[in-house]
Amino acid sequence: MRKPLIVGNWKMNLTISEGVNLVNSVIDAGIDQLKVDYGFAPSFVALGEIKKYLNDSHILAAQNIYFEDSGAFTGEVSADMVISAGANCVILGHSERRHIFKESDEIINKKVRQAVDKGLNVILCVGELLEEREAGCEVETVLRQVALGLKGLNSDDMKKVVIAYEPVWAIGTGKTASKDDAETMHREIRSFVSKLYGENIANDLRILYGGSVKPENIKELMSAENVDGALVGGASLKAESFVKILKFYE
Ligand code: 13P
Repeated sequence: MRKPLIVGNWKMNLTISEGVNLVNSVIDAGIDQLKVDYGFAPSFVALGEIKKYLNDSHILAAQNIYFEDSGAFTGEVSADMVISAGANCVILGHSERRHIFKESDEIINKKVRQAVDKGLNVILCVGELLEEREAGCEVETVLRQVALGLKGLNSDDMKKVVIAYEPVWAIGTGKTASKDDAETMHREIRSFVSKLYGENIANDLRILYGGSVKPENIKELMSAENVDGALVGGASLKAESFVKILKFYE
């Protein structure tokens, strides 16, 4: 069975000391790591400090990396750099990277390949715009992002990959996809991955939902057969709400 995974994506929020306080409050709340894998995606500058408070089972995710090893790329951060700060994972393909920073599927794929080559786990985000859903092409859009994001990865690489379905219209809007909408898309993603990599890899793949996840809707979302966890934005910035989400199993 797939173990649930919940990660707080802090985006461009929290200073280092605010992040440390949040992490300590969450850890003090006694989340059962046998029931849920969980962790945090702070800014690059906070990774090293946050790492000091985590154990080896915690996820510590960078929010991005660049696809080159090193060199004249002012302002960019490499996979080796985030690993040296303690990260074991990276979020790639987030809709804010795709839409605000114009990252193409090709660039995202280069980053995905670089991350797995360097030994990082990857949370590959995919999701359709409202216009795409209204036009009825949400499945096609999402499966195209999955196919292009995973291009060149072999079955072994897939053990390092988690997919996060984050419909863009649900991010930061308070509008959550219904359990049925999430389940339908997650099932499509799993069956697509099964065609690409076979049933075993598809069955082991964790598919997270993201987009206005809150304490009030986590149980319902987690009750869907193919929803294996969540990528949480706003509600991960306060210990009280993030702990309630992490304790969905209670
Ligand atoms: P919100 O939970 O704030 O909607 O953000 C979701 C998200 O983008 C997580 O990566």
